[in-house]
Amino acid sequence: MGLRFAEGSEETYRYPLTIGHLLDRALITSADQEIIYRDEIRYTYREFARRVGRLASLLSSLGGEEGTTISVLDWDSHRYLEAYFAVPMMGAVLQSVNVRLPLEQILYTLVHTNPSVILVHRDFFHLVEDIRKAVPGLNAIVAILDGSDEPLPPWAAGEYETLSEAASAGFPFRDFDENAIATTFFTSGTTGNPKGVCFSHRQLVLHAMALCGHSGDTRHRGFGIDDVYMPLTPMFHVHAWGMPYVATMLGLKQVYPGRYDAAMICKLRTQHGVTYSHGVPTILQMILAAAEETNTDLSGWMMVIGGSALAPALFEEGRRRGMELVCAYGMSETGPILTVTRRAPRTDAGAADEGYLLTRAGVPIPLVSARIVDENMNTLPNDGRARGELVVRAPWLTPCYVGDEAGSKALWRGGWLHTQDVATIDRQGNVTICDRLKDIIKSGGEWIDSILLEGIIAGAAGVSEVAVIAVPDDQWGERPLAVVVPAVGQGVTLEAINAPIQDLIAKGAVTRYAKLERFVIVSELPRTSVGKIDKKKLRAQFVASPSADHRPVAGTAG
Ligand code: AMP
Repeated sequence: MGLRFAEGSEETYRYPLTIGHLLDRALITSADQEIIYRDEIRYTYREFARRVGRLASLLSSLGGEEGTTISVLDWDSHRYLEAYFAVPMMGAVLQSVNVRLPLEQILYTLVHTNPSVILVHRDFFHLVEDIRKAVPGLNAIVAILDGSDEPLPPWAAGEYETLSEAASAGFPFRDFDENAIATTFFTSGTTGNPKGVCFSHRQLVLHAMALCGHSGDTRHRGFGIDDVYMPLTPMFHVHAWGMPYVATMLGLKQVYPGRYDAAMICKLRTQHGVTYSHGVPTILQMILAAAEETNTDLSGWMMVIGGSALAPALFEEGRRRGMELVCAYGMSETGPILTVTRRAPRTDAGAADEGYLLTRAGVPIPLVSARIVDENMNTLPNDGRARGELVVRAPWLTPCYVGDEAGSKALWRGGWLHTQDVATIDRQGNVTICDRLKDIIKSGGEWIDSILLEGIIAGAAGVSEVAVIAVPDDQWGERPLAVVVPAVGQGVTLEAINAPIQDLIAKGAVTRYAKLERFVIVSELPRTSVGKIDKKKLRAQFVASPSADHRPVAGTAG
């Protein structure tokens, strides 16, 4: 006998897991709750739903039909949130364009998606001429003046607010297959052109649900009704970790900060009582510095840190200033969240090492399967010691790299998504990301993790920030090179950098090959378009001229 399915009656409502349904409950429980843009705009969820309808009517009047792509070039704003809902809800695909990529890469992504309509903030008007030439299917461009009274450019179909006000709030949204593509964007691409990933309605809804599920599972403060939410990961990058969908589904007060400006972020935190954010370590560092200058109270502000490992020293500094910090891990291809830190139980003897645990990648969130494997896909034990590539399954992983058959095959080799991260998993399911496969330093047959060294050196005297890269070495194959930004007004020495490393070597916690012979000093570390330390640029700079031995080198990397 085969499988049997419940059929229901003709009138049974077959609930598709589509983005529009995330709004249903919010409009019952939180119709009067607020959504805020900087210190400029505030409106209710009731008004938000009307604006979502208006945006869909507007886009459809401009040729943004079901199945077409609609692209957005904007900072984090209420407008972006409107597009997060309106575009997928009308059956179109939202492309969040990484506005920090170089022009040729932005053009590359737009040529591939061939959008019917583009929404462009005035900060990116200078790109429009090239975009118009490159994108064949483009019907219309909506200009976002964002409160400025500058004239409307001649190429614009109109201005976002004016057009939206004139459009009907009653767009006839209809149900459709939950497997329809809702969003697409391009990964930042460490080499070559960016790679396109895509996510369906069902995937985004399940990701949002799983994020809620993990809240009850981590022993730290969850994300809930009394929180005031402000994203600090760009909305163009992996749906701002999917959190705007969660915040809206839960009907929380939301604050959108526009272009990131540390002083404005601190102001919004105080003015609107922001309690919950997320970002890369660089953002945390920026906030800690700005809060000192602006005398902003950070206590009780929960921030989920991901995108790169959080160095214990930065974690301690955030905690000292009253913030609640936890880590999350994921990638563009995984929608993104895979793991979130879980606190040790209060009674656990190991809880003394809580800080250590909280800077790890965390445990898989509900519905995520994770294992570590060797090159032949043999599963390695979850004993906290065996290292292998982390491979995952979850209902919300990109099915492919758009238009890249070979890349997609490699991504999904053996039926698991390959993260290209080397990790360990312990008996409680805590995942520790040791390093990216390509960043590990292979020195005389030993593997040294750049993340580990960075975490140790970040706590050394006089160090503000550090990145560690492999440089070729005749004797050892590769050796680590620390690229250090000194703390203001302080000097850094090789002895100071090696002091905490030597302590750990003495305890047998790290290999003796981890001791450094070289470091260089820079005034700033180069960043990728999403604010992570750009090791590709560092390698290009310092591997090309490894003569930087020992001597501090002044100047800016990258
Ligand atoms: P992206 O797709 O640009 O967001 O980059 C994803 C990569 O960032 C992952 O494959 C990891 O190498 C790294 N990453 C993300 N979160 C963490 C974390 N919590 N700890 C260490 N590395 C991380």
